[in-house]
Amino acid sequence: MPRDPIVTSPTVDERQRDAALRPRLLREVIGQREVARRLQIAVNAARKLREPLAHILFDGPPGLGKTTFATVLPNELGTSLQITSGPALSKPADLLPFLTNAEEGSILFIDEIHRMPRAVEEFIYPAMEDFRVDIVLGEGVNARTISLTLKRFTLIGATTRSGLLSGPMRDRFKMHEHLEFYSVEDLATIIRVNAGKLQTDLTEDASYELAQRSRGTPRIANARLWWARNFAASEADGRITADVARAALDMAGVDRAGLDKQDRRYLDTLIDVFDGGPTGVEALAATMNLPTDTLSDEVEPYLLREQYIIRSPRGRVATPRAYELVGKPVKKTSLRDLNLFDVPDE
Ligand code: ADP
Repeated sequence: MPRDPIVTSPTVDERQRDAALRPRLLREVIGQREVARRLQIAVNAARKLREPLAHILFDGPPGLGKTTFATVLPNELGTSLQITSGPALSKPADLLPFLTNAEEGSILFIDEIHRMPRAVEEFIYPAMEDFRVDIVLGEGVNARTISLTLKRFTLIGATTRSGLLSGPMRDRFKMHEHLEFYSVEDLATIIRVNAGKLQTDLTEDASYELAQRSRGTPRIANARLWWARNFAASEADGRITADVARAALDMAGVDRAGLDKQDRRYLDTLIDVFDGGPTGVEALAATMNLPTDTLSDEVEPYLLREQYIIRSPRGRVATPRAYELVGKPVKKTSLRDLNLFDVPDE
């Protein structure tokens, strides 16, 4: 059974699969048209003006293409890319080698940038603004600060939680791009392109069957495709038809609406334990024995978008759609009864 990719960070295998299936150039990127167009303009300008690309911040739920855009841009510019992440940078010294290795016009990608400690954030400000860093040598009375000039590089940050980024850090990014969930149409295209890369025979109907059940997320679409490919090889003649895709996903516990076990567990907990809410995400996370961040960054955004839950000032509330999905009658939790909003009586 495939492990669900959204529940925790990608494993090494998933990272390898992502890397193998990742578009290399902007024109190969599917969907996110507005974002891709703005980036194309920024790339053209950087080339013509012979300037480094502006610092860019990508935000959005996991698996929507933040790393993809960050790896496509240096390919477009013919420049080098260094990759690190917020949690790997525990002190300014951890960042220094990346800054000093940065070539003129090259790109430094920091994933999960909201998890970078404040001291590292402050160290990076002059690097982003003036391409220099201040290094303190020695200690106590002998301490002195030297200023090191850097090559003009571009910082690309990615975050699932732009709200956790400090104001000064956010302001230093000249472009802010928010990635949205993908349409079924775009996901079906991604699935067909990637089936081609995996040399797997897949019908158009099957691409839609998989796309509809991929939570609007390319990384999940890749995982579904991978599983359907293995399923087709083992249980059929290797060809992914709509029937094969349906059987493969049913077996993996992905329901017809595309929600997976984690989503169902969330909705079951909210409805059964908390009577449909309103309840805080911390209480839900504690009951489900999961980190709060996993729920708020990875599980909830899609449930909110698909209106299975709403986020009210008093906490999360299950909508009638969620009750319908889990097959329970809507209880007291009609949104009006909860008086969450000042809904005037008709
Ligand atoms: P994030 O960094 O936002 O977590 P990734 O960029 O790693 O997400 O995307 C995961 C995988 O999904 C990529 O390896 C790629 O195969 C696929 N993918 C993401 N966005 C796109 C896109 N716009 N077009 C085609 N494939 C995409």
